[in-house]
Amino acid sequence: MLIDSFQRKISYLRVSVTDRCDFRCNYCMPEDMDFLSKKDVLSLEELNRICNTFIELGVKKLRITGGEPLVRKNIMQLFYNLGNKLGNELEELSLTTNGSQLEKYAKDLFKSGVRRINVSLDSLEKNKFKKITRFGDLNKVIKGIMTAKNVGLKVKINTVALKGINDDEILDLIDWCGKNKFSLTFIEVMPMGEIGEKRLDQYMPLTDVKKLIQTKYSITKDSLKTAGPATYVHCHETDQKIGFITPHTHNFCELCNRVRITCTGEMYMCLGQQDKADLKKPIRQSENNQALKETIYEAIKRKPKGHDFSISREKEKEYVPRHMSVTGG
Ligand code: SAM
Ligand code: SF4
Repeated sequence: MLIDSFQRKISYLRVSVTDRCDFRCNYCMPEDMDFLSKKDVLSLEELNRICNTFIELGVKKLRITGGEPLVRKNIMQLFYNLGNKLGNELEELSLTTNGSQLEKYAKDLFKSGVRRINVSLDSLEKNKFKKITRFGDLNKVIKGIMTAKNVGLKVKINTVALKGINDDEILDLIDWCGKNKFSLTFIEVMPMGEIGEKRLDQYMPLTDVKKLIQTKYSITKDSLKTAGPATYVHCHETDQKIGFITPHTHNFCELCNRVRITCTGEMYMCLGQQDKADLKKPIRQSENNQALKETIYEAIKRKPKGHDFSISREKEKEYVPRHMSVTGG
């Protein structure tokens, strides 16, 4: 079992299987983003081996993310391999995606054992969607989301609140998600990586989003408290749960049960901190997993108490230098 020095039990692993993406969302990365060379990236077999070791050590939930996980070649192989563990040691296998490849893969994802997916969607307007994602095709994403729904996947929509960009669509997104029975979570922009523009210009506090919602809907606090960063309200008119991830205004670290690995085998104990452990070396040095397990145990002991994101720090260029696409959100 993995227990950190603050007695938090680590049972959730997020795996970024690629840093590459077919979109370039303007709050996530610059248009001319440099991606890793393929030779630095772990093979799917190596990622599978790391995941299985974490499962052996007590991890119950796995989320596959990226970059865009579904653009990685043969990615279904990993889903099928990990899906075999469901019902035994593993309780949940899930995915965070931009939805661009969902039409193609939704059925396979369901077959592999995935039941819930998070899809990032920041706008329901074609042109605005293109402007935010730079390369995204809204129709394709919506078709993908509907395919996922139709094959039986439970869909949660994640929307980053962007000042002056999608704040006029908050109510429409709630309405659309309500009609389709999707839960919806709003996220505040986090200061991660250079994006070639000012984040403060994009930042919209979710307290403003809540105020906006209350101009049309009645919401009450939902008692649901997960180990995740979101707090929830219930929206009565749409009978739907709405989540808020507010790293700048709400501290969610005391219940944190997760760690992350990147596609190069770096293990991050906190999304908002720099400390990491190298898992590539121990898996390449030996076919036996002992050294890998020892590295993981040692890293868990170093898991920090919490992040210290602050949007204003960006003024002093002190933000977390990695992009969100490296650790997968
Ligand atoms: N490509 C997939 C997607 O977009 O869902 C998975 C990876 S993406 C990095 C995971 C989540 O991080 C998405 O919901 C995205 O909107 C969010 N994200 C990316 N950069 C962010 C930032 N700087 N602040 C807050 N959320 C961010
Ligand atoms: Fe790609 Fe996801 Fe980042 Fe958008 S948020 S650029 S879809 S990794």
